[in-house]
Amino acid sequence: MTNTEMQTGATDFKAPESVVDGVVIGGVLGDNSPGDKAPMRDHWEYQKDHYNLVSPLNRRKFRILVVGTGLSGGAAAAALGELGYDVKAFTYHDAPRRAHSIAAQGGVNSARGKKVDNDGAYRLVKDTVKGGDFRCRENDCWRLGIESTRVIDHMNAIGAPFAREYGGALATRSFGGVQVSRTYYTRGQTGQQLQLSTASALQRQVGLGNVEMFTHNELVDVIVADGRCQGAVMRNLITGELTAHTAHAVVLATGGYGNVYHMSTLAINSNASAIMRAYDQGAYFASPSFIQFHPTGLPVNAHWQSKTILMSESLRNDARIWTPKKKGDDRPANDIPEDERDYFLERRYPAFGNLVPRDVASRANAQQINAGYGVGPLNNSVYLDLRDAIERLGKDTIKERYSNLIQMYEEAIGEDPYEVPMRIAPTCHFTMGGLWSDFNQMTSIPGLFTGGECSWTYHGANRLGANSLLSASVDGWFTLPFSVPNYLGPLLGQDRLSEDAPEVAEAIDRARTRLDKLMSIGGTHGAEYFHRQLGEELYRVCGVARNKEDLAEGLEKIRELRKQFWSDLFIPGNPDEMNQQLEYANRVADYLDLGELMCVDALDRDESCGAHYREDHIDEEGEAQRDDENWCFVSAWERGDNGPAWDLKSNTLIRHAEPLTFEAVPLMTRNYK
Ligand SMILES: Cc1cc2nc3c(=O)[nH]c(=O)nc-3n(C[C@H](O)[C@H](O)[C@H](O)COP(=O)(O)OP(=O)(O)OC[C@H]3O[C@@H](n4cnc5c(N)ncnc54)[C@H](O)[C@@H]3O)c2cc1C
Repeated sequence: MTNTEMQTGATDFKAPESVVDGVVIGGVLGDNSPGDKAPMRDHWEYQKDHYNLVSPLNRRKFRILVVGTGLSGGAAAAALGELGYDVKAFTYHDAPRRAHSIAAQGGVNSARGKKVDNDGAYRLVKDTVKGGDFRCRENDCWRLGIESTRVIDHMNAIGAPFAREYGGALATRSFGGVQVSRTYYTRGQTGQQLQLSTASALQRQVGLGNVEMFTHNELVDVIVADGRCQGAVMRNLITGELTAHTAHAVVLATGGYGNVYHMSTLAINSNASAIMRAYDQGAYFASPSFIQFHPTGLPVNAHWQSKTILMSESLRNDARIWTPKKKGDDRPANDIPEDERDYFLERRYPAFGNLVPRDVASRANAQQINAGYGVGPLNNSVYLDLRDAIERLGKDTIKERYSNLIQMYEEAIGEDPYEVPMRIAPTCHFTMGGLWSDFNQMTSIPGLFTGGECSWTYHGANRLGANSLLSASVDGWFTLPFSVPNYLGPLLGQDRLSEDAPEVAEAIDRARTRLDKLMSIGGTHGAEYFHRQLGEELYRVCGVARNKEDLAEGLEKIRELRKQFWSDLFIPGNPDEMNQQLEYANRVADYLDLGELMCVDALDRDESCGAHYREDHIDEEGEAQRDDENWCFVSAWERGDNGPAWDLKSNTLIRHAEPLTFEAVPLMTRNYK
């Protein structure tokens, strides 16, 4: 299938013009799902029944590269290896078990329905579509809901020690935005246990010789030949050596791009480079500005801080969120009398109170801070106060429930939450945007697949808690092992691209030229200098609250910063050895392009939806207003023909659109009041 054949979406759809200079309106995308042949809820079953198969004896003839061995990539590599394909797996870590997925704490959702609370696949789909503010594909969500039942049993079977109830059944708990108990967990270490089980399954395939593992290897380019992705160029981070690997198909499972904001809750090395290399080679980037800001992040306290930390949202079960009623009130929290405190979530959302979904809480927190009620040294946070819960339940109960979080807060901030209210602020936590992919998880470059957080699927404009470990697992264990073979089937008999092919030499040359260019600038500032400024600007203009003027100004500033970066960067050492400054600078170069794309997307999308809001699209009560008539589609961006990042010829970007339709979950306005 070529890009042109993909332009198969609704013919009566007309995308709105863009207000952003340089944006060209592209094609209408179809999702390559069964469409009218089955109701959306049956699309996945229909698709699996009709996918091409590859017989066991032919599987070794196909080589598949899996880049990223977190929860999604580790699972895909293990499953494809177990099926008998010739798999090469890559990670920049020293071992798969170190992937960012180990940071996930709260749990993983599943509509297994073992509780008597009337849960089921439909409810998971409804919560996910509604939670995502109707900017996701419903049929993708059905796949998520249906396969979620297998995920828990599978992960349990390969060793994830899920919490259990007294009688031995797996325990569950509730997360924001849902009314059932469907979150499976292993204390506060769910991601760690899922990642360790997956890494063990992958290691088993390595031991059996089905998967060849390349650690300390970073993807620095993708190889496209005959319109298909047929390999990747990797840089060995220890020796600096560039090596090309060719394959019949490539899977990118390289995680989220939240570190574009410099400060986020993500692991410090998570980055956007693999997906940006794919984007440079023609893969479309969907919804880049759809970012989740977690309401209970630790605030930035000083400009030299290197990251933010997540405080579990479970604290919102007992702590009350407030700010002073008076703007700029800088009295210590405990000196502010009760009638001068504004418990704004309880005031605005009496039904859900402090337990509104993440995006609603983040938006309300940001509105309060932006209106001048913020507290703390930089006036950039709100209080999260345990006082009343301690009075009601006693300190011991609170300690039992949250002692690890309270200790973490005390160590990071130096204040005792039993005595003084904690301070929290919205912080970048998850990226709903990512490489655009069709219903089969294939990007707009045939042969290039994507899974996990680096892909755009499932979560629309806002992800529900505990749905990401689920989507990474569903992609890795139960989608890619079916959809990749479907693509490979018709290629039987076709040789793998020769490593001497001109496209391979070109890709290596591109990668080398870029690294040499970075090394040769010889300016005065390290990459961090530019990254920090980019992050601050993105938080300012492309954070929870956005407006046209600031976005337009931010866009220009980012373009200017990019120019400075490519003329004033300094990297010590040389490229043919271990050089962590070079690795970092290469990533920051991508963040600058991505930051620009995010601002363009945010400025272009003339509505509020999900995790962020546009100040010109809120109602009189401050609630976000979607525009379903004009913007009920996914924006999938293609790079215009504008040369390498250091020598851009134009700001041209092409906006393709995939119209969204909903069957089982009709469009509605979210209401948590
Ligand atoms: C603090 C925190 C808590 C969270 N808690 C939860 C939770 O309770 N429940 C939930 O559902 N979700 C949670 N999330 C979200 C969830 O953890 C992630 O979305 C998910 O783990 C992403 O998995 P992944 O496989 O897509 O990517 P990752 O686990 O990030 O793996 C990415 C892999 O790609 C590799 N890689 C990246 N770039 C390259 C490259 N260029 N070349 C080679 N390799 C590369 C890395 O080495 C790594 O192996 C949390 C997130 C955070 C930050």
